[in-house]
Amino acid sequence: FSWWGGVQMGPPDPILGVTEAFKRDTNPKKMNLGVGAYRDDQGKPFVLSCVRKAEAIITSKQLDKEYLPIGGLGEFSKACAELALGADSEVLKSGRNITVQTISGTGSLRIGANFLSRFHGGPLDVYLPKPSWGNHTPIFRDAGMQLKAYRYYDPSTCGFDFKGALDDISKIPEQSVIMLHACAHNPTGVDPRPEQWKEISDIKRNLLVFFDMAYQGFASGDIDRDAWAVRYFIEQGHNIVLSQSFAKNMGLYGERVGGFTVVCNDAEEAKRVESQLKILIRPIYSNPPMNGARIAATILNTPDLRSIWLGEVHGMANRIIKMREQLVAGLKKEGSSHNWQHVIDQIGMFCFTGLKPEQVERLTKEFSVYMTKDGRISMAGVTSGNVGYLAQGIHAVTK
Ligand code: PMP
Repeated sequence: FSWWGGVQMGPPDPILGVTEAFKRDTNPKKMNLGVGAYRDDQGKPFVLSCVRKAEAIITSKQLDKEYLPIGGLGEFSKACAELALGADSEVLKSGRNITVQTISGTGSLRIGANFLSRFHGGPLDVYLPKPSWGNHTPIFRDAGMQLKAYRYYDPSTCGFDFKGALDDISKIPEQSVIMLHACAHNPTGVDPRPEQWKEISDIKRNLLVFFDMAYQGFASGDIDRDAWAVRYFIEQGHNIVLSQSFAKNMGLYGERVGGFTVVCNDAEEAKRVESQLKILIRPIYSNPPMNGARIAATILNTPDLRSIWLGEVHGMANRIIKMREQLVAGLKKEGSSHNWQHVIDQIGMFCFTGLKPEQVERLTKEFSVYMTKDGRISMAGVTSGNVGYLAQGIHAVTK
């Protein structure tokens, strides 16, 4: 007898599984383009210098390690909301938001999903773009919500299916929840243009908009430009909820720093929502970890460090944009006759190459290039040293 005799083996995580296969490969030219973590041009993990400097400041202060409040570090949450909404946001001025520190973007999404499923009066349906980040589905499902989808990606253009999205969104029943990626859509790298965002915002005022902003700054290199859609929706009267992550834009992956914001009608409503968020968080993890929040708050709230950070975000985004261009140039040089413009047009860390599963399989088998089966590559894993090899491989399997 065993308590767990009936537990069946579950499938491995589709993305982390790619890394495991990569590690087993002995080819010196192997490339891991599966996981979405930034690498420098030598292919090494990158710790931002503003982070190192913030750590030194924090260490020198010899701070204590008491528990944080349930909602996290106040100076972090305030700066986090300000980064997303903009320093002169009307919402911040009138105090009609509540922002809590969360366990990175995933924790934020999950707290948000639990909050919606407990308090959102409308249908417990959440509409995700097709496709969406793989973890969105279990996050909302485990919080008791039902998953629905709206058209988003058009495989024939490797771009945004604007018409399909508008069509589907206009049919979503009132008061349902819609998930929008604020910028640098994962996995497709395809974002609506500002005028398209405007039309999406105009469709209906009675959908609860959940923005996931995991890549602020990573798309264009400019944090304000990347937050444009979020700010526009709020200006148009949407009382959105928002998830933020500092994993990518500060390189704080393992520190687990994020924020969850609810925009309310007024400050009094925000107080009531805050009380319920605390009641929700307390029995899950009690209060969030402090180290990463201290680092992020120090960077955001120290003008010198903040400007170093903005430069570094810009640098990371630019390196990725350069790799997109070099990949396409490499494919042309190899003699590829396909149109690879989408590789340049797509935004952020990922590129949806359009490779078919059997082509992905060949690329992995013959070239030791590891990626998810959907043809997504993390551009952050491409360097000036290996971009030529990648072009060669992609050309070979798409000839
Ligand atoms: N949302 C999206 C769309 C993401 O791509 C990610 C990171 N892969 C996250 C949220 C959350 O990541 P983390 O929990 O590491 O902040």
